[in-house]
Amino acid sequence: MSHFWSPVVHTLTPYVPGEQPQLARLLKLNTNESPYGPSPNVLAAIAEQSNADLRLYPDPASVELKKLIAKQYGLATEQIFLGNGSDEVLAHVFLALLKHEQAILFPDITYSFYPVYCKLFEIAAQTIPLGADFEICLDDYAKPNGGIIFPNPNAPTGRALASKAIASLIQANTDSVIVIDEAYVDYGTESCVSFLQGLGCPKNLLVIQTLSKSRALAGLRVGFAMGHPSLIEALERVKNSFNSYPLGRLAQAGACAAIADQAYLEVTSAKVIATRAELIIALDRLGFSTIPSSANFIFTRHPQHAGAQLYQALRTKGIVVRHFNLPRIEDFLRITIGTDAQNAELIQALQEII
Ligand SMILES: *Cc1c(COP(=O)(O)O)cnc(C)c1O
Repeated sequence: MSHFWSPVVHTLTPYVPGEQPQLARLLKLNTNESPYGPSPNVLAAIAEQSNADLRLYPDPASVELKKLIAKQYGLATEQIFLGNGSDEVLAHVFLALLKHEQAILFPDITYSFYPVYCKLFEIAAQTIPLGADFEICLDDYAKPNGGIIFPNPNAPTGRALASKAIASLIQANTDSVIVIDEAYVDYGTESCVSFLQGLGCPKNLLVIQTLSKSRALAGLRVGFAMGHPSLIEALERVKNSFNSYPLGRLAQAGACAAIADQAYLEVTSAKVIATRAELIIALDRLGFSTIPSSANFIFTRHPQHAGAQLYQALRTKGIVVRHFNLPRIEDFLRITIGTDAQNAELIQALQEII
C-alpha cells in the first residue's frame, strides 16, 4: 500500500487465476486448458508469420480474422469484436455496455472475474442465487436491471441453459444488454449465435467466445464478441481508447488458422465429451456426486471428504485441480477433462485417496 496509489486501487480484489505450476511433471487439471494442443495448421501459420514483418504494427482491426469468424458464424464483420483473450473482451463489455444507474445481475456462483470488473469500473451489481441443483433460475432475473451476464454453460458448475430460455430473457429485457459468455459452448451447448444471424438480430444480445478452451489456444490470447453492430461500435470505441493493437501479428495468424480448421475443433471437442462421460461414471462408482456438465470440466464432491482435503491429497499425488474456498461450493472440486490416460491417472489417484 502506498499513498501514491489512486483511491480505487485500494478497493480492488484482483482475480486469482489457477496456478500455472513450474513443475512439468504435475498433471494439470486446474484451468480448463485443452489436453490436445491446437490444430497443426495454427502452428504452421504462426511459424510462417514469424518473420521480419514483426517490425510492423499488426492490423489494428484484425480484418482477416473478423471476416473468418463472421463467415464461420453466419454474421457480418460489423458484428464481430476481437480482444486479447475474452477476459479483455469482457473488461471492455463491462465498461462499454454494463455501467449504468441500475445494478447489473449475475449468478452468485459464476465466473469470478465478473465481480472483479465491477469493482475496477465501479459498476453496481446484484448477485442472484443459483437454485438448489446449481441451476440458473431465469425467473429470478425478472427485475429492473442495468444488464445481465452469465456464462452458458455456467462456470464453475458446468450446467447449461437451453438457448430457448435465453431467447425469452432477451425479449423480456429490451432495455438492457444480455451478455452470454460462451467460453465452453463447444462441448455440447446450443449457442445463442444463431439469434444474431440475419435481420432479426436483437439489439441487446452480446455473445462472447474464446479460442482458449475448445481451440486449445489459451497461450495465444484471443477472444471475441458477437452482437448487433451498435453494441460492437461501443466496444470498438472503448478498445480504441485503451489499446489499438490488442492482437499481435502472430496471434492474428494463429487465430485465423484455428477458425478455419473447424474439423479439428469438432474432433477434439467430441473426444473431450466422450472422456467426460467416462470420468463421471468412474466418479459415480467412487461415491462422488457430479453436477451434469456441458463443459470441458466437471464439478464434483464426495459426501465423506471435504473439498480442501481432496484438493490437498491430489496435489500430494502430483495432480492439480481447482478448489474454491467459497460458501456453498467449498466441498466441490472443479476438474478439467484431460486425455484418457490422464483420466485414468486421476481416477487411480482418487481411488487411493478414498
Ligand atoms: C476461461 C474463461 C474465460 C476467459 O478466457 P480467455 O482465456 O481470457 O479468453 C471467460 N469466461 C469464462 C467463463 C471462462 O471460463
